[in-house]
Formats: sequence, C-alpha cells, structure tokens
Amino acid sequence: MPDAAGTLSATVAPGTAARGARLAAAVGARLSAPTEDGAFWVPASTFTRRDGSRGVFPHTVTDRAKPGLIAVGGDGRRFVNEAVSYHAFVRAQLASGGRAVPAWLIGDRGFLWRYGLGKVKPFTRRLGPDLASGYLRQGATLAALATAIGVPATVLADTVETFNRDARRGEDPAFGRGGDIYQRHLGDADHRPNPCVAPIVQAPFYAVAVWPADLGMSAGIETDAEARVLGADGAPIPGLFACGNDMASVMEGAYPGPGITLGPALTFGWIAGRNAAASPGGQTEPAAAVTLSGPSGSGS
Ligand SMILES: Cc1cc2nc3c(=O)[nH]c(=O)nc-3n(C[C@H](O)[C@H](O)[C@H](O)COP(=O)(O)OP(=O)(O)OC[C@H]3O[C@@H](n4cnc5c(N)ncnc54)[C@H](O)[C@@H]3O)c2cc1C
Repeated sequence: MPDAAGTLSATVAPGTAARGARLAAAVGARLSAPTEDGAFWVPASTFTRRDGSRGVFPHTVTDRAKPGLIAVGGDGRRFVNEAVSYHAFVRAQLASGGRAVPAWLIGDRGFLWRYGLGKVKPFTRRLGPDLASGYLRQGATLAALATAIGVPATVLADTVETFNRDARRGEDPAFGRGGDIYQRHLGDADHRPNPCVAPIVQAPFYAVAVWPADLGMSAGIETDAEARVLGADGAPIPGLFACGNDMASVMEGAYPGPGITLGPALTFGWIAGRNAAASPGGQTEPAAAVTLSGPSGSGS
C-alpha cells in the first residue's frame, strides 16, 4: 500500500483491520502481492463525535460532483476532475506526490446551502459546531479561506478565478467536470448547461479536508474459485474459507463501479458456506487455533 494512503478506513473500526488476513496468514495462507490499488478507495473527512469517538464521512456521491465545488491540494491548485468516482479521486490524490493529501473540497455559501459539504447537510443553518471543531473551514474572502486551510492565497485566488471564467459557461477545460453520464447523474440535473459546473462566487467560502480511505479491500487472502484459502504451495488449506474484504478480490484492484465488493462477497460467501456444509458431517476441520493480540495493521 502506498505510504500516502495512511490507515484511515471508512469500513472498519480502528484496530480491527486486517485481522482476518493475519489469522489466515498465521496458519500458512498466501496473501496477495502488494499493489497500488490494494483497496477500493474513497476520500473521507473525519470529525469527533460528542462521545469523543472519531467519525469518518465517506465522500461517495453527495458533494463532489455537484456544481460549484473544486478540490485543491496543499499548493492551492486543482489536481483531478472532482466529479469522478471516489476510487479515481483517491488514486489522483495518491498520484499527487503528497500535495493532495489531504485535499480540500471548496465551495461557496450557495453551494453549502444547496448541497452540503461532507457531514454538513444541505440547508444547515447552524454551522457553529462544525466551524468550532475545525471540520468546516470558513473565509469571508478567498484569501481568508486560504489562510484558514494553509494554502497560498494568491494561488488559490488564481485557481478559483481560472475555474470561474469557464464555469460561467458550464465548462471545465482543465479537467472536464460533467464529461460523462456518471458525473452528470451525480451532479444537479436542474443546473444548466452542465450539472457539475458552476462558478464559486458567493462569500463566505468553505472547505473540508479529505484523506484517502478504503471502503473495501482488494488485497487479501488468496483463494481458489471454491473460496478455499490457498497455502504457500498453492494447495487449499483444509477447512479454511475466505470471502468479502478478507479475500483477495477477483477485481484485482480495478473499480468499474459500485457492487464489485458486495457482489463477490455474496457470491463467494455462498460458495464457501455450501462447501463448508458439504464437508463430512457438515463441519470443517479447523485449520488451527490462532489468537490475535495487540493493534492490527493498516485499515487501507
Ligand atoms: C460508505 C460505503 C459505501 C459502500 N457502498 C458499496 C456499494 O454500493 N456496493 C458495494 O458492493 N459495496 C459497497 N461498499 C463496500 C462494502 O460495504 C464492503 O466491502 C462489505 O461490507 C464488506 O463485507 P465483509 O462482510 O467482508 O466485511 P464487513 O461488512 O466489514 O463485515 C465484517 C464483520 O465482522 C465483524 N468482526 C470484525 N472483527 C471480528 C472479530 N474479531 N470477531 C467477530 N466479528 C468480527 C465486524 O463487526 C463486521 O460485522 C461500501 C462501503 C462503504 C463504507
């Protein structure tokens, strides 16, 4: 996994990630080779709940494709078509050489009111708690917002001005927001001519930071088509099956669309269950007894 991916997960609680893989590895299971896309990615913002626990908001489909949003890296420049899939967005973050980790999602007052931003829902009147916690950053001007998020003010001003110039015509020549049906579907159908593009003009301006996180795993425990876990020699380990996030995905890191985690999970879960039930007496021999202790590995 690339270092820039960090350990944030939108899927599992801190400290529980990779336990299945570690349990299987302890009895000789073969794990898939590391790749850039060992996870199915999602940009996520984090916040602290009232009880002190950490909340993770996955920016899947609610805000990034709506008209009037851009994402910038720490240098104040855009780095991606923000309306693409969550997986593709994070791939661009990871390919940015660190400048887009975190990335800042930026919109204006009208955007925040109509569409919300991360955990801030549309039509929210009371922004105080999210501003006070630092989850939502605000600036009366773009320069003030730049200071609030620690990016160069002149660069951010230039980025927004350049974007706005074309956005007034519904165009985004730099990255092509709204360039396909997936993006336009997640935009605002009532916004013309481009459901994904509008200028950023109404003060105050707002930003939320997003980090790479996972919403499922691609890397994992190697199995055969019968969901049997394979050992180092490539032979099935008797009585040991894997599916879901624990199993090395048949997608091998590709993310053609939603469903490529739950689909294989259900399919191989059913196959594993059927095979386990077909074992002598309807039970499988346990491969070994393994106990885990201490913190787990990376969540992504
Ligand atoms: C916001 C979001 C949106 C998503 N949208 C989609 C989508 O549209 N389509 C799609 O296909 N996929 C989607 N996914 C991904 C999908 O939800 C996951 O890949 C899938 O739930 C993984 O299933 P799983 O059973 O392997 O793991 P999990 O659902 O994580 O289940 C693992 C279970 O094991 C339990 N557990 C963990 N440790 C232990 C232990 N030591 N002892 C006992 N129990 C334990 C956990 O509590 C949990 O209940 C989405 C994920 C997120 C986060």
